[in-house]
Amino acid sequence: MGKSKEENPFQNMLKQLKTACDRLDLDPGIYEQLREPQRSVIVSVPIRMDDGSIKNFTGYRVHYNYARGPCKGGIRYHPNVTLDEVKALAAWMTWKCAVVNIPYGGAKGGIVCDPLKLSQGELERLTRRYTFMILPMIGPEKDIPAPDVYTTQQTMAWIMDTYSSFLGYSVPGVVTGKPIPLGGSLGRAEATGRGVMLCTLEALKKFKMDPRKTSIAVQGFGNVGSNAAKLLYNEGCKIVGVSDVSGAIIDPEGIDITDLLEHVKITKNKLIEGYNRGEFIKGAIEGNKALLEIQCDALVPAALENQITGENADKVKAKMIVEGANGPTTPEADKILDEKRIFLVPDILANAGGVTVSYFEWVQGLQAYFWSETEVNRKLKEIMVSAFNAVYETSDIYKVNMRTGAYILAIRRVAEALKLRGLFP
Ligand code: GLU
Repeated sequence: MGKSKEENPFQNMLKQLKTACDRLDLDPGIYEQLREPQRSVIVSVPIRMDDGSIKNFTGYRVHYNYARGPCKGGIRYHPNVTLDEVKALAAWMTWKCAVVNIPYGGAKGGIVCDPLKLSQGELERLTRRYTFMILPMIGPEKDIPAPDVYTTQQTMAWIMDTYSSFLGYSVPGVVTGKPIPLGGSLGRAEATGRGVMLCTLEALKKFKMDPRKTSIAVQGFGNVGSNAAKLLYNEGCKIVGVSDVSGAIIDPEGIDITDLLEHVKITKNKLIEGYNRGEFIKGAIEGNKALLEIQCDALVPAALENQITGENADKVKAKMIVEGANGPTTPEADKILDEKRIFLVPDILANAGGVTVSYFEWVQGLQAYFWSETEVNRKLKEIMVSAFNAVYETSDIYKVNMRTGAYILAIRRVAEALKLRGLFP
């Protein structure tokens, strides 16, 4: 809606898919099946607002491909949610689960709303009514939602309670990213950021760069960005810039992330605005623009799609990009970054730590046997490091960039499952 062609995430996903499928010489019948979601549902979600009026919201849930197992993917609350965005995000979940080789298909959901303008009560009613509307689609063996942009552990608790109320008993396995007392996994809250940190360290290794001499800029300071910044900071990296919807903080001397996190905790809507150190560039557009163009070794876009585009890719000065967000770089930008020889760790690998620990949460819940945080983090590291190296080797063998390498690895696995299952009827 009003978006330029470069900004349609689903069209962008199709371009990425085609690049990989061309290199793979994929069976045309399989390619045909991978270009559309298996199931897309649009729901109408009416709720009573605090002022007594009734407002209707639009929600989506898309099952992209479930050849490899139950569908898995988050739910996003954002004013710019569209069906094409949810379709792209569901496709990326499919490839992501295949890259890290966990037994899931891909899904995604979203509600078109501005969560910052809704009260807790309105958010709860919205979540419960949406859950009711997608009830036939979800379940521990069918489709397991999780948090995404502007949804939280509390959102997952409401979904779990609504679903369980309909079944008449507790079904913790219907969602992941739950609060710990309801069967959540230790380590899940920071897992996506941890995966970003692990991928950054692996990439630095390939370039024989010392994390202690590495400068990093992080776009977005939500769950992914703030945890990635914190964990990279703890590894000795210098964080020279962070941004969120309020603006950007830039400090070539390095930002004390522990201190900034304390500041963010006490501000309304958890924003970085008002922090008293470094240079502050006010405004989402101005701040994000400045952040992407910072002089640094690694850039971590951890906000939304379409941030690095054909328009600004040329201005990126980082040596490497590690995609914490889903779809932050457009195919036009990819071309420019390749020409500039900027090493990019793609979203479907870099941010797969979240869904990997979601998988651990689901497995622990099904067995009703829970692991220590050390155990969770150790298993996550094993999967992320091995997936990073598998993608690196694939891109080396096919002489393609890391994104196409990751797609080739993923598509091969999904295609193999589709072939083995055959075509019904
Ligand atoms: N929303 C997250 C993602 O984009 C996590 C999904 C999940 O844990 O199922 O990967």
